[in-house]
Amino acid sequence: MAHRLQRPASGRHGGPRPTLRVYLSRPRISASACSGIPSPSEVRRPSSLPPKMCYFAAMAKKKPRKKARRKTGADDGDPRWTSKLPPAPGELRILQAFVNTADLRQGTDLAGPRALAEWLELWGLAAGLELTSDHLQNGKEVREAMRTLIRCRPGGAPRAAARIDRAGKASPVFARLDAEGRGRFESPAETFDGALARLVSILVGSQLVGTWERLRACADKTCRAAFYDFSKNRSAVWCTVQCGNRASALAYRWRNINSVRKMDAARSWVRGR
Ligand SMILES: [Zn+2]
Repeated sequence: MAHRLQRPASGRHGGPRPTLRVYLSRPRISASACSGIPSPSEVRRPSSLPPKMCYFAAMAKKKPRKKARRKTGADDGDPRWTSKLPPAPGELRILQAFVNTADLRQGTDLAGPRALAEWLELWGLAAGLELTSDHLQNGKEVREAMRTLIRCRPGGAPRAAARIDRAGKASPVFARLDAEGRGRFESPAETFDGALARLVSILVGSQLVGTWERLRACADKTCRAAFYDFSKNRSAVWCTVQCGNRASALAYRWRNINSVRKMDAARSWVRGR
């Protein structure tokens, strides 16, 4: 004979079923009633005090808090800076501008050796250079090595680091002080190698003062622009909001494509049975 387990007549969690009990509340007798001292609820608000204000009225009356401005360094009035991205502080912006001479998104680049010579003169690295296509090639190699190093960080791009190191060794760079005691690196001769070595000295200098870590390459593969991360927690990934939105839209689309593929696979599996 089969025995069936029967659910015991108990409460929700297996305990004894609770019984309903009625408690009579005691009359509240405060200590002040006995002592003759009025309780706080009995104390009436004097008419001289302002009436109590509700939360929303108080918030409406409150002065609006000034919105904290995000520190971007964009408005420091550097006439050489034409990019929409905020410039990095100090001389690091020269390196940032150098990397951004190629706009991967727009498909623009330095038009030729003359354009590179003009850029070097604009940023005070070397004036009046007569450059060739080999110089342009070298300059672009160093530039892309810098972009790779920014993107991969130390240890992640040994070939890029070696290329930049070679450019740094090509010409000596001296540490100089101006009349106000501000230090800078300078190339003894205004040559193309000297200009590249000067760019490498900027890279090394930014590593020493700790600003190098904030220079980043955009996470968007089609952009890779160099930008300075002004965020408090150093977590910026995209150069602009547009790049971030584009990446989010792509990720969303990719997820949908995957789900459609999964649905198709599931439908064909059901049909085959
Ligand atoms: Zn970008």
